[in-house]
Amino acid sequence: MKTLNDFDFKNKKAIIRVDFNVPLDENFNITDTTRIVSAKPTIDAILAQGGSVILMSHLGRPKGAEEKYSLKHILKSTSEILGVPVKFADDCVGEAATTAAAALQPGEVLLLENLRFHAEEEAGDVAFAKELASLGDIYVNDAFGTAHRAHASTTIIAQFFPTAKCFGKLLAKEIESIDKVLNNSERPVLAILGGSKVSSKITVIENILDKVDHMIIGGGMTFTFVKALGGKVGNSICEDDKMELALEILRLAKEKGVQIHIPVDVIAADDFSNTANTQIVDVREIPDGWEGLDAGPKSLEAFEKVIMECKTILWNGPLGVFEMESFAKGTIALGNYIAASTANGAFSLVGGGDSVAAVKQFGFEDKVSYVSTGGGAMLEMLEGKVLPGIAAILD
Ligand code: AMP
Repeated sequence: MKTLNDFDFKNKKAIIRVDFNVPLDENFNITDTTRIVSAKPTIDAILAQGGSVILMSHLGRPKGAEEKYSLKHILKSTSEILGVPVKFADDCVGEAATTAAAALQPGEVLLLENLRFHAEEEAGDVAFAKELASLGDIYVNDAFGTAHRAHASTTIIAQFFPTAKCFGKLLAKEIESIDKVLNNSERPVLAILGGSKVSSKITVIENILDKVDHMIIGGGMTFTFVKALGGKVGNSICEDDKMELALEILRLAKEKGVQIHIPVDVIAADDFSNTANTQIVDVREIPDGWEGLDAGPKSLEAFEKVIMECKTILWNGPLGVFEMESFAKGTIALGNYIAASTANGAFSLVGGGDSVAAVKQFGFEDKVSYVSTGGGAMLEMLEGKVLPGIAAILD
């Protein structure tokens, strides 16, 4: 696996695919700079060696060159975060880009305009990738969030750098963290899968059954399992057409010696609302008109025990509807147990969309071992897929 350490960047131009697809408010202020901050170590390391840096990214889903998706909106913040004035080329290819790239001096940084202003980016167009490639000497991929896409800048471009391509620090860390959970893990290994639906997590569950000793299945997925086992789930979210699949997962888990933990009690509500009436009920006896929106105290006690026993923990998906304060307790408790287990020496990886939001919202970010920056990319890796952006570097 080639990383920055395999190259001398002195007097070289590194062309780096970063993920600067940051959220902006209506005045184009960045509301969360995590993605830029996360790319800084890679950029710093190259500049410190006397190299220069060309940054390429997408922002949003523009249809052609739409001003509101221009990366010039993030130029000032990027300069502040990186601590160097960042130059800007108002197109990622063509004369604007080639002239700016050619003029770049060691220690300087150039940001190219939104890659997705050209349809060729998402189409994985080879000629477009070649144009991008012509701007730099060494290709660095540091964008985990788009590593599952075979786009021009994330994958196709790599073929023009047969020996001069590597992973940036962020992407290398992502790969190492997932590897630490799936392949080089200290046992016992636990996967905690929450979220709303069995259907969106099924491939992940199937793939990691071979890798884990314990699996906690929580959130809205709970009820498909409970109903399949003959329980009464009331109005809880439930995918009837996935009940067979749920039973098959339980059968497979037994065969593979994986212990499955499902909530035994839940906080049930008489409405999908923060101010609904609530009661704690047995998960198999949810009254009609009531729905389970969070894990109950007995479930949490059981989960705490497993979490504290395990040496490797993967967390994907909340235990309840954490966006509403009344149903966030389970998810918060879970975060606390994972933090305690991590302090005890366990390796914990949190990733895939909503659990990352929960971890940030409730302040667990620094108490777990690693928080992944890629939602879809992380899920695909957990599904056992080889991501094209990663494969292109390993090639
Ligand atoms: P996912 O994107 O599949 O990880 O699902 C995350 C969503 O699942 C969050 O928005 C939660 O509010 C939701 N969720 C978690 N538990 C439940 C539940 N018991 N009933 C309905 N939705 C839930």
